[in-house]
Amino acid sequence: MGCALTQPQRITVLGATGSIGLSTLDVIARHPERYQAFALSGFSRLTELEALCLRHRPCFAAVPDADSARHLQGSLLAAGLETRVLVGEQGLCEIAAHPDVDAVMAAIVGAAGLQPTLAAVEAGKRVLLANKEALVMSGALFMQSVRRSNAVLLPIDSEHNAIFQCLPTDYSRGLADVGVRRILLTASGGPFRELPLERLPDVSPEQACAHPNWSMGRKISVDSASMMNKGLELIEACWLFDARPAQIEVVIHPQSVIHSLVDYVDGSVLAQLGNPDMRTPISHALAWPERIDSGVSALDLFSVARLDFQAPDEQRFPCLRLARQAAEAGASAPAMLNAANEVAVAAFLDRRIRFTEIASIIDEVLNREAVIAVETLDAVLQADVRARAVAGQWLVRHGR
Ligand code: NDP
Ligand code: MG
Repeated sequence: MGCALTQPQRITVLGATGSIGLSTLDVIARHPERYQAFALSGFSRLTELEALCLRHRPCFAAVPDADSARHLQGSLLAAGLETRVLVGEQGLCEIAAHPDVDAVMAAIVGAAGLQPTLAAVEAGKRVLLANKEALVMSGALFMQSVRRSNAVLLPIDSEHNAIFQCLPTDYSRGLADVGVRRILLTASGGPFRELPLERLPDVSPEQACAHPNWSMGRKISVDSASMMNKGLELIEACWLFDARPAQIEVVIHPQSVIHSLVDYVDGSVLAQLGNPDMRTPISHALAWPERIDSGVSALDLFSVARLDFQAPDEQRFPCLRLARQAAEAGASAPAMLNAANEVAVAAFLDRRIRFTEIASIIDEVLNREAVIAVETLDAVLQADVRARAVAGQWLVRHGR
């Protein structure tokens, strides 16, 4: 089955049915002369995946199991498409590493994105990294693999994309060598920034997912509400920019207009600003070092009017302290932090635990499991499995 694509860059979108995936396809559709969706993956929203295939006519699609694949393949054939449907993690790795692919948007949520993202890195692709959990879990191995394969790693997370834009192009020489004093990682503070503390145990998944500035998937929305998202981003920034945790300061900035800042030794502080719309970092990373229209409206400073900043409150946001603890411990600690958080957030979204118990579960996992060196992918995956087991025991012990 041939698929005649010529000029445009061919893009694989891992997690095409999600929030980042859809924003990516929106940007791709604005520039048909530059970009072409080569492969799309979905997991549970397969009717949406089918609609995306009909619209973007990719060469490949990837779904989790053989039954879904047969069903989707049948529908696409009936519609006259030549799209080949692949199955499971192997299918995801295949579309990530396919020789015809120019760039891979890594936008699967959570640990499930690790191996396909690594497959794209190992194949030396331009990797647009939204799936921060993959880097948090396997940072050292991931970055070694980037260097070995000459992959071009571009951050999609708005803060890291902002930092990347504010750093000089040769920042990989070392932050001190390029005159950086510290990185200021901004956070909105999420929907519970000002909620009276005694009401935090009773917040619902719907309240946690109602982010004041960004529209995102449910898992990252809960992470934003607990500020674990900022904790994961702290670890992500350490790997991307070769920074120590102490070089990164978290600043609450409720308007989400400044997406992060870099503080230089001469007192200059560079910031990247923009409307809170992920199509800006997506377009930046797709076109880098060029610039393209993203569909995002121009920032109107007069309507923004003011920019506020405050220090994060560790009592309100214990997840941020736990993430910093894991960042400092290194080795298997970030993978365990991430796994415990994934179990806890899923239990919260299922209404099995209270919002404030997310931090209790992670605390227990970090304090019960020894931190060990993780020099292979297997060791990372084992740390992930052990942390999930300890988090699961917490749920059983508390009758959830
Ligand atoms: P969504 O929940 O909206 O989308 C997640 C995507 O991953 C969907 O395509 C989903 O498929 C797929 N998926 C879920 N579970 C699996 C699995 N087990 N195996 C394979 N695919 C799976 O999340 P977001 O788009 O919001 O976030 C994606 C990633 O980007 C996350 O890592 C997040 O931290 C990061 N990010 C997101 C931002 C945002 O603004 N949304 C900002 C910065 C980073 P399906 O929907 O079909 O089930
Ligand atoms: Mg972010």
